[in-house]
Amino acid sequence: MKVLAGAPVAEAIRARVREEVAKLRERGVVPRLEAILVGEDPASRVYVRAKAKACQEVGIASRTHALPATTRPEELASLIAALNADHAVDGILLQLPLPAHLEAHRFLSLIAPEKDVDGFHPENVGLLHQGRPRFVPCTPAGILELLRFYGVPLVGCRAVVVGRSDIVGKPMAALLLQEHATVTVAHSRTRDLAAVCREGELLVVAAGKPALVGAEHVREGAVVVDVGVNRVEDPALLARVFPADPGRMAELEKRGYTLVGDVDFGAVSRKAAALTPVPGGVGPLTIAQLLANTVKACLSRRG
Ligand code: NAP
Repeated sequence: MKVLAGAPVAEAIRARVREEVAKLRERGVVPRLEAILVGEDPASRVYVRAKAKACQEVGIASRTHALPATTRPEELASLIAALNADHAVDGILLQLPLPAHLEAHRFLSLIAPEKDVDGFHPENVGLLHQGRPRFVPCTPAGILELLRFYGVPLVGCRAVVVGRSDIVGKPMAALLLQEHATVTVAHSRTRDLAAVCREGELLVVAAGKPALVGAEHVREGAVVVDVGVNRVEDPALLARVFPADPGRMAELEKRGYTLVGDVDFGAVSRKAAALTPVPGGVGPLTIAQLLANTVKACLSRRG
């Protein structure tokens, strides 16, 4: 079984980005990403910091607008309008989730589509589903890069995507369809999930349920992409998913938790031809792809 690591793929994406940024900077154009963070969600803070650091490493200018959780709708709307109007801003990122009184769809729709580097604006969603993608959501776009990097054939392939979120499952299915795979999308109401998953020569799992997918869900020789990132505090569950990994158990004992995917790594690795690890698989690709989308926005606006 081949472990499909994300790091070399992310590095290849970043190398392309660095090259484009250097060419733009030679002409006096500095790509710029502006992130909006509303409230105190600790995970969101970590993500936004990681995104800012990644921008700095490749020469993209970035700024974070940290707003209090009490921000009024009209205040958020006027910040987005100001960033839309600022010619020097190429990408606008609204970190989700928003506090309950701010409806995400409403504000994502206010971002200028040509600066929507997360690909969540309805215009960009529509373009993707028409097979004319402009900005593709970063996680599925990164997964497609990973499949290309490792030479996974997609034309005519039977692909099963577990999960139908706007962020991962739906755009992943649309991308695979565009690559000429035959795509099934499964979700929490799917009957006999294991039988549906076993149809997949490629199985992409984005359910947010630790070790949901076991050996009985996997066709012999399938390529399995595990998108899930789940915090696990139960040593028994960890021992089942990673039976031969004392390092992880030590991590759980030390930190009180460890991160596992939606796939039972130990069981599935005996059946799949290839599998992405968690962490270290899909994770590194999302931010790399955000950088790529930002440069793309800069090139199409100012290139
Ligand atoms: P989400 O919005 O909660 O969507 C989960 C999807 O999985 C839903 O469509 C749900 O079905 C389906 N589902 C839940 N339980 C299921 C079950 N028992 N059987 C079949 N389908 C089931 O989650 P998301 O934002 O797509 O994220 C999914 C996972 O990926 C999470 O663990 C998240 O942390 C991770 N993630 C990782 C990255 C990364 O960079 N590595 C990026 C994004 C997300 P219904 O629609 O019927 O409810």
